[in-house]
Amino acid sequence: MLCDLSIVGAAAGLRRRDFSARELVGAHVDAVAALNPRLNAFITETPELALRQAEAADRALADGSAGPLAGIPLAIKDLFCTAGVRTTAGSRILGNFVPPYESTVSAQLLRDGAVFLGKANLDEFAMGSSNMTSAYGSVQNPWQRRGSNVALVPGGSSGGSAASVAARMAMGSTGTDTGGSIRQPASFCGIAGIKPTYGRCSRWGIVAFASSLDQAGAFGRSVADCALLLGSMAGFDPKDSTSVERPVPDYVAACRRGVRGLRIGVPAEYRMDGMNAEVELLWQKGLGWLRESGAEIVDVSLPHTKYGLATYYIVAPAEASSNLARYDGVRFGVRQDGVDLIDLYERTRAAGFGDEVKRRIMIGTYVLSAGYYDAYYLRAQKVRALILKDFTDVFARVDALLTPTAPTAAFAQGEKMDDPIAMYLNDVFTVPASMAGVPGMSVPAGLDGQGLPLGLQVVGRPFDEETVFAVSQVIEDAAGFSALPAVRAGE
Ligand code: GLN
Repeated sequence: MLCDLSIVGAAAGLRRRDFSARELVGAHVDAVAALNPRLNAFITETPELALRQAEAADRALADGSAGPLAGIPLAIKDLFCTAGVRTTAGSRILGNFVPPYESTVSAQLLRDGAVFLGKANLDEFAMGSSNMTSAYGSVQNPWQRRGSNVALVPGGSSGGSAASVAARMAMGSTGTDTGGSIRQPASFCGIAGIKPTYGRCSRWGIVAFASSLDQAGAFGRSVADCALLLGSMAGFDPKDSTSVERPVPDYVAACRRGVRGLRIGVPAEYRMDGMNAEVELLWQKGLGWLRESGAEIVDVSLPHTKYGLATYYIVAPAEASSNLARYDGVRFGVRQDGVDLIDLYERTRAAGFGDEVKRRIMIGTYVLSAGYYDAYYLRAQKVRALILKDFTDVFARVDALLTPTAPTAAFAQGEKMDDPIAMYLNDVFTVPASMAGVPGMSVPAGLDGQGLPLGLQVVGRPFDEETVFAVSQVIEDAAGFSALPAVRAGE
């Protein structure tokens, strides 16, 4: 069935004329139409656009001008501005926003021939770990516990991006990761997801959450699919001063490098008291697979890990409070009129933002306010420098790290909603790499006792995504993860 193909496999099939882009995209458009009412993975569907792009891909394939992603149907997180297609960031306040421009990352995917099925659902302004904070309704994880119909979260914030790929509605998708928003949903949905090094992809045209942490990345059902997508998305962009001018390596080739002779670090601080036994067991298995494939396993220490979450939840809200100041109802987005300008601002922001966003704006404003700036924000930035130094020190001795991606498998919709701290704990294993700006990838590695996927995280040196892909590929091959979600195209 066309929806089960990998991107790498489909690209080859298109070139052999086994099927047309029109057929491939048509199958996915049908899958979106059939499954989205149940999963709510897309906020906006663009079937006509997708079919037009598919026809263009078929012409390019026929005349030999096709790019590497010609005819490949993708979901685009609704945080990437797409020219002429509504971009909401999961918020009411951008409910009527139709960008006149295309983000650099999505423009590069289009340049390479990709087809866009629509805009994927997300937590509001990418703040969350469950997709429960979207103003457009929650996303359901296509996986279910064995023998249970309880609706589970897909993780967040890129939950729609992950769910759509797991359910075979899209072959791959874009996400963004500020503290774990690609890696954690990949783990919850049983697919692969990479957050590259900060600066690897342009942030231009991506709705900003926390600018010093936000980074675009890719989801796929295989490591190689993520590598192919990232190769298209990455690269220097003069429009983003934090994007880095370095050549983009051949990531697909890097997947086949193997791990023989590599040193893989196991950070002691990621072994937590009361850790989920199944997660711990899978981690040990993963280390065993790498050892059997010729890697050397080395115990290392990242002593400032314990400050990761606390400092992240100062830095990220601080930057968010500043970035979100622009949504005032004046220049763009939804407006609530008022008796004067201040009243207009207040009514617009009160009606336009959801509770989690308001919580972050208040925390962020507080930690940046005179008198508290030194005690919170400045101090958090200093600790952040120490977190980065931990990674720098460790990467002098090892080539990559292996850790669990998330402390648990997917949880039920509604769980942890009354306890923000419990929700924030989802990010405990992903936030340190975000604070340090280093690349991280989640690979599906096994199932828990209830039949839900669990991921392992590979963390690498800055700009060494190639080693991350190589290690991840070995995990993928050894794990042989072939389980399928309950809800998927064709079922
Ligand atoms: N869950 C984290 C948060 O709520 C990370 C979100 C993200 O990476 N965008 O901030």
